[in-house]
Amino acid sequence: MQSSNDIAAIRDIGIMAHIDAGKTTTTERVLFYTGISHKMGEVHDGNTVMDFMEQEQERGITITSAATTCFWRGNRINLIDTPGHVDFTIEVERSLRVLDGAVAVFDAVAGVQPQTETVWRQAERYHVPRIAFVNKMDRVGATLDRTVEMMKSVLHAHPMVVQIPNGLESAFTGVIDLLLMEEIVWTDDGGTQLTRAPVTEAHELHTEATLAREALVEAVAEVDDETMNVFLETGAAGVPLDLLKAGLRRATIANKGVAVLCGTALKNKGIQPLLDAVIDYLPSPLDMPPVIARRKADDGEVQRRPAVDEPLLALAFKVVHDPHRGPLVFLRVYSGVLKVKDAIQNVTRDRKERVNKLLQVHANKMQEIDEVSAGNIAAAVGLRFTTTGDTVVVATDREQVILPGLEIPEPVIF
Ligand code: GDP
Repeated sequence: MQSSNDIAAIRDIGIMAHIDAGKTTTTERVLFYTGISHKMGEVHDGNTVMDFMEQEQERGITITSAATTCFWRGNRINLIDTPGHVDFTIEVERSLRVLDGAVAVFDAVAGVQPQTETVWRQAERYHVPRIAFVNKMDRVGATLDRTVEMMKSVLHAHPMVVQIPNGLESAFTGVIDLLLMEEIVWTDDGGTQLTRAPVTEAHELHTEATLAREALVEAVAEVDDETMNVFLETGAAGVPLDLLKAGLRRATIANKGVAVLCGTALKNKGIQPLLDAVIDYLPSPLDMPPVIARRKADDGEVQRRPAVDEPLLALAFKVVHDPHRGPLVFLRVYSGVLKVKDAIQNVTRDRKERVNKLLQVHANKMQEIDEVSAGNIAAAVGLRFTTTGDTVVVATDREQVILPGLEIPEPVIF
């Protein structure tokens, strides 16, 4: 499993959507499958997938936390709760600030909805790279194409469609991965199966997938020079898988394009490829530019890199009241390391504080940890004065710096 200092293996992401598009269901499915795979990867004492599923059903999955940590393919995904469908409040601004990337969930029947537009613009304003998950492909009236067209016409986005559905509405069975040109279907226990449907099955489906793959290569090439160079030399069919994937990642991180996947969260068709896409296309903290802070003493600019050997710089982005533990202060650490019992300085409020405990919140448990390092998120127990929006550094740090720009910005008229 990933070590605590492996910053490249962290994804700090949010899920955003218009109400009813499926944000809750998608989040639950993500936590459910990552829970199974993590458990399976760790425990070899006879626990079966079914045991785990039953336990989960009994306990219920906690998704109400400000940030929930799960693991996928050896990576740590911190799912940060973004307030839904709200206007320009400071809470949205703060939560967008702690994300490095986002999954935008669309309703395949309704397409782009008013609040999709709102959250999309907010993400754009903060340059948050996005991938799109077109949900509810099993519903009557679902189409991928219309939603993709609306992404272009309403959101002015550059969609890069990486999957097409195999069958629609009640006939929806899975998706065709256009990078692999294979069909992905789901087994009852949540596992995936790859079949060679486009190659072996109906000629029509194969033709559709081939055209869609060509369109994907062109869409990536349009916004990524490296892909364009190879595309011009070899044509769409000659662009190798690794290069196409790397192009998709670069284009997404540079906010030049949006990888589009489809599925149904409710029926578990599409969640695992979505998790793969989070790891493959969304940035890790290392992909982000250094954070700019200001010295409180003279307002001088200081840059902090996402590295453990930098001084601690953390932002409190949410306080949740726990009946047993008192206030849990959720911190995103941008640089350095915060350890339990460290004396810290809340620079915003000029207060010294001590961290009694650090917690990592998982879907079904709170885990005590000794430290939280650059790029990661944890809940601190024992802070009495620190609240949402405050900047925290180590008390002995000579440079008392503060993260600027957390005041409420002027609303933007679209
Ligand atoms: P939220 O408001 O965005 O959090 O949406 P929810 O996750 O609560 O979903 C809204 C409704 O749509 C619920 O009744 C879900 O059961 C249903 N739903 C969510 N995803 C799907 C899907 O993929 N297919 C179908 N048919 N229904 C879905």
